[in-house]
Amino acid sequence: MNMDVTVASLPRLNEKYSMFSRISDDIGTADFKFLFSAKDNLTSKDMETRCGSRILEGYRPAFDATAIEKMRISGGKLIGKNNMDEFGFGTFSTNSAFGIPRNPFDPERSCGGSSGGSACAAAVIEDHVSLGVSTGGSICCPASFCGVYGLAPTYGRVSRYGLIDYGNSLDKIGLISSDPGRLSEFLPVISGKDRKDPTSCAQPDLNLTGKKIKTVAVPREALEGVSGDVLSAFESSLETLRGMDIDVKMMDMPFLRYAMPAYYILATSEASTNLARYVGMRYGRQDGDLTLKFDDYFTSFRSEYFGDEAKRRILLGTYTRMAGFRDRYYAKALKVRLHIISSYKKVFEDHDAVLTPTMPFVAPRFDDISEMTPVESYSADYLTVPPNLAGMPHLSVPCGYDAEGMPVGMQFVTDHWDEDPLLTFAKDWGCAFETRRAEVLL
Ligand code: GLN
Repeated sequence: MNMDVTVASLPRLNEKYSMFSRISDDIGTADFKFLFSAKDNLTSKDMETRCGSRILEGYRPAFDATAIEKMRISGGKLIGKNNMDEFGFGTFSTNSAFGIPRNPFDPERSCGGSSGGSACAAAVIEDHVSLGVSTGGSICCPASFCGVYGLAPTYGRVSRYGLIDYGNSLDKIGLISSDPGRLSEFLPVISGKDRKDPTSCAQPDLNLTGKKIKTVAVPREALEGVSGDVLSAFESSLETLRGMDIDVKMMDMPFLRYAMPAYYILATSEASTNLARYVGMRYGRQDGDLTLKFDDYFTSFRSEYFGDEAKRRILLGTYTRMAGFRDRYYAKALKVRLHIISSYKKVFEDHDAVLTPTMPFVAPRFDDISEMTPVESYSADYLTVPPNLAGMPHLSVPCGYDAEGMPVGMQFVTDHWDEDPLLTFAKDWGCAFETRRAEVLL
């Protein structure tokens, strides 16, 4: 690839696709082995970190997130911070305060969310790898909509130090690239124990031996709500898998139906407490009206600078944790989560992976997204939420294109700490399936 051409064209690319909220100003001169970008909820020393939110305008962290630091140590140059849904709240990256990424296959459509800018950069820039973050599907969804590969590792595999929390028990940093080999190359770079994140410390080491997926279970429930285009691409991929000597079995997995409601209760419960720290006194904007009383200062500040979706989630999450409702919602959702984990584990006794389409439809048009109710857009996550709730690794690979050339993705889930077969599969699939690159016009 011609790196100079790519680097020089970044601002122009960004005008067209809005994948960056900030672009580094010293890329032309720097010495590096590879270029990478990072979702803007990962702190970086040299660039503002705003998490898609006006409330964080002006926030210049004093430290790098561990994942960014490790990429830099291995020779990476951070070229920009990717646009995203505010604090990760969304499925289409339309809840972003600093630009809505546009799909490289059709700029009138979404890149997916909430790591939409990361997937867009991976699809548009040659030989690129982006750091994304998934709480409920934010790596696989945009990877699928943009026709690239996305890997969300096991919860705890990658240190969350320097990640601005959405839901601490769910957040996972992972990788997005158009080149499946990049996932195997960079997962070892970003993984590992980190004293600064205790949840990363009890993990088994990553051991990549080239283990293959030999048997996959396809849940019938997963296919009920998907569009005809997605279904036909998925079914023809099942044939390709059989041709690769993978045994494909259809199964009932009724537990999957409960994941989406349980996720939105747990994720918003955690989010509502995490957002309590943004009151206009530290991190980012601090320019409220100081003549106001204490509470009025906080309220006016938060009313002005949080977007609508953030406010909706604060209300929802505060409600589900309130005395009187906590047992009915929060505590029950925790039980559902345990049930989902144990049900997945039973499937993994006889199968190497669970396979579904990644998203129920191809990237939607912005016009159609603006007509969706919040519940309709939450429901679009019903296939990506289950592995996230279970903390299990999952991979989205491109598997077909609809009549208008929009990419379709399929998603593999494996047991905790079992990323090896996902990475091996991604590379094998890269040889078996012919991926189309979006035509990038400037
Ligand atoms: N769409 C889901 C949500 O809005 C997942 C987002 C994410 O993984 N950050 O919560």
